[in-house]
Amino acid sequence: MPTEELREAAAKYLMQTYARQPISIVRGRGSKVYDLEGREYLDFVGGIAVNVLGHGHPDLVQAIQRQAAQLIHTSNLYYTEPQVQLAKTLVEHSFADRVFFCNSGAEANEAAIKLARRYAHTKYGEDRFEIITMKNSFHGRTLATITATGQDKVQKGFEPLMPGFGYASFNDFATIEALANERTAGIMLEPVQGEGGVYVADRDYLKRLREFCTKKDILLIFDEVQTGMGRTGTLFAYQQLGVTPDIMTLAKGLAGGVPIGACLAKESVASAFVPGAHASTFGGNPLACAAALAVCRALLEGSVLDQAKRMGEYLAKGLADCKDRFQVVCDVRGIGLLQGMELTIDAKTVVADCLARGVIINAAGERVLRFVPPLIITQQEIDKLLETLTTIFTRRAGEEKDPHH
Ligand SMILES: *Cc1c(COP(=O)(O)O)cnc(C)c1O
Repeated sequence: MPTEELREAAAKYLMQTYARQPISIVRGRGSKVYDLEGREYLDFVGGIAVNVLGHGHPDLVQAIQRQAAQLIHTSNLYYTEPQVQLAKTLVEHSFADRVFFCNSGAEANEAAIKLARRYAHTKYGEDRFEIITMKNSFHGRTLATITATGQDKVQKGFEPLMPGFGYASFNDFATIEALANERTAGIMLEPVQGEGGVYVADRDYLKRLREFCTKKDILLIFDEVQTGMGRTGTLFAYQQLGVTPDIMTLAKGLAGGVPIGACLAKESVASAFVPGAHASTFGGNPLACAAALAVCRALLEGSVLDQAKRMGEYLAKGLADCKDRFQVVCDVRGIGLLQGMELTIDAKTVVADCLARGVIINAAGERVLRFVPPLIITQQEIDKLLETLTTIFTRRAGEEKDPHH
């Protein structure tokens, strides 16, 4: 179907929940994707931090093909080896003792919220159920997770929201102290706020949060749906921020593009879930888990994590150079291959300019460009992005100086 026809059919048949870019992507290879007309794009979105191994990675493709031929799905009524192997791998490489599998980031956070409530109910009684989250956060689109998400635009029109949530200011410990009380069961936050515009949590703030939570037996929940799986240069972001959560959620990059989510916890917390307490039909099915195992192997046994760390530093430096050279760039922030560039102008127009020049990026908020490429991105590919941004910003600066141009 030609792109124009596809756009018309999409406008007719799909619920209109997305503002889409005007291209139809048909295939991908490495850090590049190709549209219906055969145009090549350098992919700095990576399915929004999902395609950690890029497109068509042979190990991932082979793992999926093999598992698809053997067994795609059974049910959690039975044991399957990929699910147990994946849980073992995640446990062996994190603080956690146990894993629950589901199918998305929102579901992983739902599981985390339910687990925190169950833990607090069991230990302290039914009055302890509140979860403190952060303003400007993003935790998903289910009713509980839009409530957890501290952004009006996500909640508007869906009220009444879930009871039992309060909002602190990110990186502001005093607002936690003001909100927390004997009803508080958990504090949930992203180590780096992704959708909210790429804001990194301070180490000191996290340390105080950790100490506070430990003292009060409040569960510290890290939403690593975006920051996990090597995005920040370590397998999980918490590993380089100097604090360990009690519960952690994963999704996006976990299976390199096959839908999966996971909620991980220490034994003392995980034991609040007993048979029948929580479930998911598709959760941890063999296909998704085989894909995730291939991703884990590439990160843990291959050179991908190392590459992500080096390329993250290279990208951050290149973007910082842009900030030094162009007035439209007012801030650059992030860790590893999760980088944000705040502009004085509308980010959408720069996204469109990049697309026209064969580079896919996206905006997180009105003025922030977000860069979350595959972790296999190369130095030359980063150079191409930086050249493209330089061309666009140079032209913009020229237009500003010469408005009649
Ligand atoms: C994307 C994202 C989610 C939601 O994940 P879905 O798979 O879209 O439900 C939750 N938390 C964070 C931090 C995210 O980046």
